[in-house]
Amino acid sequence: MCTGRVDLRFILRALANGNDGVFVGGCWLGECHYITEGNYDALSLMHLAKKILEYLGLNPDRLRIEWLSASEGVRFAEVMNDFSAQIKSIGRLGEAEGLDHMELCRRLDQATQLVPYIKIAKRAKLAMRLSKEEEYLSLFSTEEVEQMFDEAPSYYIDPEKCYACMICRNRCPVQCISGDRSRIHVIDQEACIRCGTCLKVCPPRFGAVQKLIGEPAPPPLPEERRLLRKGKGEKSEEPAA
Ligand code: SF4
Ligand code: SF4
Repeated sequence: MCTGRVDLRFILRALANGNDGVFVGGCWLGECHYITEGNYDALSLMHLAKKILEYLGLNPDRLRIEWLSASEGVRFAEVMNDFSAQIKSIGRLGEAEGLDHMELCRRLDQATQLVPYIKIAKRAKLAMRLSKEEEYLSLFSTEEVEQMFDEAPSYYIDPEKCYACMICRNRCPVQCISGDRSRIHVIDQEACIRCGTCLKVCPPRFGAVQKLIGEPAPPPLPEERRLLRKGKGEKSEEPAA
C-alpha cells in the first residue's frame, strides 16, 4: 500500500488492536512514482499522529516512518530490527505509560471518533509540502493538538427550535441526521464528523443547530417526543410562537 494511503484511523486501529508500535515504510522523498507524492502526506500525518499519541499520554516513539527503496533489503532488515528493539525497550502499550486497559481503550476510542474532525481541522497543514524533512518536526505543536482536542465541537439540534425543514438532513455529508417533515431532527453523535455544515445551513429564522465546545451534546430526544404538531412543517415556514 502506498504511504499516501495511510490514514490516522489505521494507526489508531493498529494500537487499539493491541500492537505496541506502528511502522510506516515508504519510498524516499522525491522518488514517488506518482505525481501525488503521497509520502509527503504520510510524513506530515505521522508527525501529527505522534503529537496525538503524546496528547493521549502514550509514548510517541511508538510510531516511526522511514524511507526505504525496494533495493535496500539490508537497510530494511536493520531498520526493522532497530524499531523492534525500540518498541521492546519502551514496553507494552498502555502498561508502560501507567494506563489500565480500559483507560487506554477509552483514549484511543476518543481519538478515533475525532479523526474526521482532525482531518478537517488540520487539512491545510497536512497538505503542506515543506522543502526540508526536518521542517516537518515542528509542523504541529503540542499546544495546537491540545487545543484541537479541547475545542472539538459537538453539534446539537435544539428540539424546541427545529422546524423539520429537512435542509440539514439533506446537506449532511455523512447522512447522520434523522428526521422528516413531521419529525424533529436528531444528530447521531457517533457518526457525526463535526463538519459544521448543519450549523451553516439551518435557516437563521430557526437557528436550531447549536455548536457546543468542551461539553458533550445532550442526549437525543426520545422517539415518541419527536413528532411535530400535525401540518406544522408543511403549512408554514415559520416556527410556532
Ligand atoms: S456537523 Fe456535519 S456531520 Fe455532523 S450532523 Fe452536522 S452536517 Fe452532519
Ligand atoms: S435545518 Fe434547522 S430547522 Fe431545519 S431540520 Fe435542520 S435543525 Fe431543524
